Amino acid sequence: MTTAAPPAPPAPVELFDSHAHVDGPEFDADRDEVLARARAAGVRRIVVIGAVGEPASAERAVALAERDPHIWASVGTHPHDVEHMTPAWWAVHERLALHPRVVAIGETGLDFYYDHSPRQVQAEAFVRFLDLARRVGKPVICHIRDAHPEAIAILRDHNAGELGGIIHCFTGTPDDAAAYVDLGLYVSFSGIVTYKTAQPIRDAVGRVPLDRILIETDCPYLAPLPRRGRRNEPAYVVHTAQVVADCAGVPLDELAAATVANTCAVFRLPPP
Ligand SMILES: [Zn+2]
Ligand SMILES: [Zn+2]
Repeated sequence: MTTAAPPAPPAPVELFDSHAHVDGPEFDADRDEVLARARAAGVRRIVVIGAVGEPASAERAVALAERDPHIWASVGTHPHDVEHMTPAWWAVHERLALHPRVVAIGETGLDFYYDHSPRQVQAEAFVRFLDLARRVGKPVICHIRDAHPEAIAILRDHNAGELGGIIHCFTGTPDDAAAYVDLGLYVSFSGIVTYKTAQPIRDAVGRVPLDRILIETDCPYLAPLPRRGRRNEPAYVVHTAQVVADCAGVPLDELAAATVANTCAVFRLPPP
């Protein structure tokens, strides 16, 4: 007598992690396993953000994108680190910005929560990266924390909507989210949206049209519930997707399809 095989588990929904720092040393021991787990979890595409500390991060992100057709890179310098940027450091960005696997400039922006670099230096670097993005015809990935009015003014002055851009790891108010949408930008939600104290961010999801929402891990930071406290990795973005879908009032598969299409659109990649 034969026993029927158990039904295959449903295929995972396809997702795009729009912001991952998998170039970093946190992944040196098991990067290939992390990327394999992402694929197995349905996270077929990833943009690696080469922007932490020195431009070696940008070089590493581009190297990852060169060896995997489903990985692309963004190059920039995080607002925390811009006060250390030298002319030679900037020259690396000028060169890599033109690389065909580089789909965006950033992360750049304003972080007035930590103030690791002086605010004026952050603002000047932000404008410099916006100008670079315009020159190379690529969108910009913005890191904005506790500086939304200032960022909105700079983005408006530099016609960022026409440039194309993302407010990554969104942590503002629902009104801030609406202001970014009005500027023509996309809003990306990280694992923070799953945290109990993040009700304003869940409320903000409802102010962003479905065709402007992105999801991301920002790994290795900010693991979503129920993984909070561990090293984050792209495979975990499904938990963030589920909460964003609930807030948007759509099923997970619809949110997944929309965010993949949106991420391809903003990075000017062919639709899946
Ligand atoms: Zn950031
Ligand atoms: Zn980041």
